[in-house]
Amino acid sequence: MVSVGPEIAALVKNGTSGGLLAASLTLLGIAVAVNVGTALRNRRLSRRLHAARSELTELRQRDPLTGLATRAGFEALLESEVDRADLHRGPLALLYVTLDNFGSVNQAYGLRVGDGLLVEAAQRLQAFAGRGPHVAPVARAAGDEFTLLLPLDLAGAMDAASSLQQALSAPFTVEAQPLQLSASIGIAVYPDDCGRPRLMALAALAMRNVKHAGGNGHAHYVPAMAQDLREQSELLQDLRHAVARHELRLLFQPKVDARTLQITAAEALLRWQHPRRGVISPLVFIPLAERHGLIQSIGLWVIEEACRQAAQWREAGLRMRIAVNISGHQLRSEHLVDQIEASLARHQIPPGRLTCEITETVAMEDTAVTRQAFERLRRAGLHVSIDDFGTGHSSLASLRRLPAAELKIDRAFVTDLGSDQQALSIVRAIVQMAHSLQLRVVAEGVETEAQRDQLASLGCDELQGYLFARPMTATALALWAEGEGPAACSQFSPSLFEATATAPLDP
Ligand code: C2E
Ligand code: CA
Ligand code: CA
Repeated sequence: MVSVGPEIAALVKNGTSGGLLAASLTLLGIAVAVNVGTALRNRRLSRRLHAARSELTELRQRDPLTGLATRAGFEALLESEVDRADLHRGPLALLYVTLDNFGSVNQAYGLRVGDGLLVEAAQRLQAFAGRGPHVAPVARAAGDEFTLLLPLDLAGAMDAASSLQQALSAPFTVEAQPLQLSASIGIAVYPDDCGRPRLMALAALAMRNVKHAGGNGHAHYVPAMAQDLREQSELLQDLRHAVARHELRLLFQPKVDARTLQITAAEALLRWQHPRRGVISPLVFIPLAERHGLIQSIGLWVIEEACRQAAQWREAGLRMRIAVNISGHQLRSEHLVDQIEASLARHQIPPGRLTCEITETVAMEDTAVTRQAFERLRRAGLHVSIDDFGTGHSSLASLRRLPAAELKIDRAFVTDLGSDQQALSIVRAIVQMAHSLQLRVVAEGVETEAQRDQLASLGCDELQGYLFARPMTATALALWAEGEGPAACSQFSPSLFEATATAPLDP
């Protein structure tokens, strides 16, 4: 229908004389023509609008970075897959996949590498999704979170999750940067676990439980997980106040000389005295603190408290090096060395008396940020120890560039010494390599005399473990040092690292 403009309509309605009528009819003809043109234009506009709208829907449903479906797109796919499952009376498993420590990759290598990693991970997921008889829907649900729908029951989904974990843990190369990751996967199965609306939320819940337990695994949703997660978030709330409420404390575990058994150092190990839950292990709350940005303030407290303790021991006439564990997040902070130096100065501790234990995996991140951090540690004259050595992928060349003075062989090799010939060969090789680089070797987790003797004969310089002492309070350590402990360990000695320390020990 052609609509007439209001002025023309008024003319036609009001016009009574012939001339005027003729003029009106001409105008009407023009108006009709104009309006036909408008209609055509409107139709074109509406077609364009429609195209734009479907483009927008497509955009909303397709992730521009990875080309995968978005969360919105996935919801639509989920609906049709559920219909299909209903039709065939078959199961449907939703796998909720997230990359562990993706945030650290972004932080350490920058967003470009982070994006590249997401693209490659998406490609692996897509390849995995294409393995079955029909291509399974796969989506990028958020940041580093992906979802996958497989026509499998629980047993099949668990198998698929472990193959997927394997596929994602193979090394990546992004912008010439070698990277290795692990993944956490949560699984929920339709219709056994729930109906369509909750499937995604339950699989995500299972994934978060895996992540909270340290990641690198997969789990099927069980109702208790909701409770676990609630407890985790309560724990996190409490952890935010732990420093201010004076609930953190340090225990100390000595390192002893492998030949003389004299104490050379004390490693500070953190404990959280929770008002209701009792003592909580750092293995539980340090990862939580790292994930939620609390590690900086907790780490700062550890450094300050360790220095304060070292000064107190010095006053009491006890001379030894003190060691603190430094998390990767702390190492990547540009303030770390300034903060350490400030604590050392406050308590008048020479830098060479403080050992920073940094795990091998963190130390080997060959990024500009870690290289700078190590350079600053070296310039400050701090004593660096590579912790949990043997679990990562160090090369001789990469070790050589680190300003480390000490290497701690991971407890796993010490535990396996008696039973596993390979562990023995590895320890021997580590000691030889470390000595060729003038690094001292500490073996941790020594629990038996047989291990002690074997490690000493393999050439380890220092030992640490329950055989000598468990982590204990500063007061207990001082008492122990004054004769309460085993006779062979009761004597404090000046640090054996004197040669590598840049600052002299106490007068
Ligand atoms: P780590 O640095 O490798 O510390 C050694 C862990 O092994 C300690 O556990 C210690 O109590 C335990 N251990 C020592 N000797 C033996 C032994 O003979 N047998 C066995 N089975 N275990 C032994 P802990 O205190 O639970 O600490 C666990 C981890 O938590 C530490 O591993 C470290 O990675 C982290 N951690 C502890 N304190 C801090 C801290 O202040 N800051 C940071 N960032 N991490 C910390
Ligand atoms: Ca350590
Ligand atoms: Ca260790």
